[in-house]
Amino acid sequence: MPRNFRPATQLVRGGLNRTHHGETAEALFLTSGFVYDDAEQAEATFKNEVQHYQYSRFGNPTVAMLEDRLALLEGAEACKVTATGMAAVHAALLCHLKTGDRLVASRALFGSCHWIVSTLLPRYGIEGVFVDGADLDQWREALSRPTAMVLLESPSNPMLDMVDIAAVSTLAHAAGALVVVDNVFATPLLQKPFALGADVVVYSCTKHMDGQGRVLGGAVLGRRKWVDETLLPFIRNTGPSLSPFNAWVILKGLETLKLRVDQMCRNAAAVADFLAERAEVARVLYPFRADHPQHRLATAQMSAGGTLVTFDVKGGPAGDPRSQKDACFRFMNALELVDVSNNLGDSKSLATHPATTTHMRVGPEERARLGIGDGTVRLSVGLEDVADLIEDLAIALDAVGAAEARAAE
Ligand SMILES: *Cc1c(COP(=O)(O)O)cnc(C)c1O
Repeated sequence: MPRNFRPATQLVRGGLNRTHHGETAEALFLTSGFVYDDAEQAEATFKNEVQHYQYSRFGNPTVAMLEDRLALLEGAEACKVTATGMAAVHAALLCHLKTGDRLVASRALFGSCHWIVSTLLPRYGIEGVFVDGADLDQWREALSRPTAMVLLESPSNPMLDMVDIAAVSTLAHAAGALVVVDNVFATPLLQKPFALGADVVVYSCTKHMDGQGRVLGGAVLGRRKWVDETLLPFIRNTGPSLSPFNAWVILKGLETLKLRVDQMCRNAAAVADFLAERAEVARVLYPFRADHPQHRLATAQMSAGGTLVTFDVKGGPAGDPRSQKDACFRFMNALELVDVSNNLGDSKSLATHPATTTHMRVGPEERARLGIGDGTVRLSVGLEDVADLIEDLAIALDAVGAAEARAAE
């Protein structure tokens, strides 16, 4: 029986399947198809009588190494990877749902996940119901009727709201629902949704797993029976398959995932503490700070606060959205080291203004409901020296402060 290795070991060695050449690194099988010894072997392969790769839309040795590594890391029975994180979310939901079904989701979802629930599912006669993820009474009410699936994200993008995964899973299972957790912000290292009762975990591998801004990828993890009988036919026949090259890049990215995430969490915690002391900052959201509204749940459910910090830049009279946005843009444009970008989980620190980019399309009412203001910044904290990051943020906040002082004269 194989030894039960710890996550840092699985990240480097999990799923490694060497060829007869004995290569050190994971081999890259950049091939779309496979050949058979003879027609009989092809027939036996298609009858599932022998194990043989058929076509890279169905499976590929490099892709399989990534799937095995992710399953070992997550403690899942099975994993299928996809071309993007959104392909993973789409496949996980659409392989399972049918007309007449009902899905309950936390309101604070990644923009495209929100679109699938609010716009795509209803086209197929699937009802999508949103609740405030932090409010267990709303979950209880919504799950008092038979429900096929629950979709939640914790911590959420961009306000870092927490959902009590264990409590929601208990309510969901009583309603007959499968619980799908988008665990991107926590990464497989900081939060273990299966241990809390989730049935399916989805990832964008684009974020921390690659973590170096190179490729897109996604993953769906779950029980063997559900993956084989429900997810696999959907993926094989609709084709959101991951390129073997991208799988190989993500495999190599995973080798340093723990080193990067641990350091990025340390940097993020220090950055959050720095921001909280600044007069130009109205509020800081970081799950492991004692002033986070769900600090107790965060520390119970996660092993560190994560790599993202969200905060509001003060500007002009409170309630004047234009001056809030002006101050926020002045801050972002004064950053010298941190880049303005809507990606996250990268080794480079990236700042986003959700109201005008990632959450522009959800509209002002929904933004207000989610707590996304015109002064809100989402900062994905990277691997630079934290002293340089703090210096950069100080320079940019000084620029906001100076402009406010001029305006007051
Ligand atoms: C990025 C992201 C996705 C989508 O992943 P892509 O790889 O960009 O398709 C889904 N959920 C969350 C929380 C994300 O951050």
